[in-house]
Amino acid sequence: MITIKSAREIDTMARAGRIVFDTLALMRTVVRPGITTEDLDRQAEAFIRSHRGATPSFKGLYDFPKTLCTSIDEEIVHGIPTTKRLLREGSIVSVDVGVCVDGLHADSATTIPVGAIAADVRRLLDVTERSLHAGIATARAGNHVGDIGHAVQRVAEAAGFGVVRELVGHGIGTRFHEEPQIPNFGTPRRGPQLKPGMTLAIEPMITMGNPATRTLKDKWTVVTQDGSLSAHFEHTIVVTETGPRILTM
Ligand code: MG
Ligand code: MG
Repeated sequence: MITIKSAREIDTMARAGRIVFDTLALMRTVVRPGITTEDLDRQAEAFIRSHRGATPSFKGLYDFPKTLCTSIDEEIVHGIPTTKRLLREGSIVSVDVGVCVDGLHADSATTIPVGAIAADVRRLLDVTERSLHAGIATARAGNHVGDIGHAVQRVAEAAGFGVVRELVGHGIGTRFHEEPQIPNFGTPRRGPQLKPGMTLAIEPMITMGNPATRTLKDKWTVVTQDGSLSAHFEHTIVVTETGPRILTM
């Protein structure tokens, strides 16, 4: 069932979304060569909990142990922060975070360069972010879930990049993952129709090479099979009468 949120619920999600946005802004200032993903996680958790009533959504969700997912280079999503992973100059790290306020969640991700990165890697990040905004722009009442995926896919594939198929965006609200699923590929006018009050996490995962995935032995980290780099950008949005509104900024 796809739920329609009340104005009060949307306000609460926007409060959670603001903390998510500020957490990712903090991460952009602390990511540097030599820092561990555990350091990022500790700083993010302390920052989130410094807001009264705010808790990290991921901690304990399906038994995930941390506040952030930190996915480096060929890791697509669900990397687990650890003291054993040092960020290195020229790498990219995808940071994904959710925050819960008064029982309602918001979810956003961004891929951050570690020091100076190569021009083609910069392009992967730019195109992935552009594909996210193309998807968001189509999230209008009367359009369909397939319109979102189609818009994302068009931007990514026109640039020569791959679209991950096995992982998708999702509805979000009182539960972190709600219906509908939001694939990053699709056919216009197909899938559930969008209505005002639907809250969606749109999250393209785009690869430089083949988008086929596999999951590491830790049972969480999803990587590209061919080892190519992957980027991930995500926002939580609400469909309104007048167009999409981003809640995580
Ligand atoms: Mg996320
Ligand atoms: Mg998500």
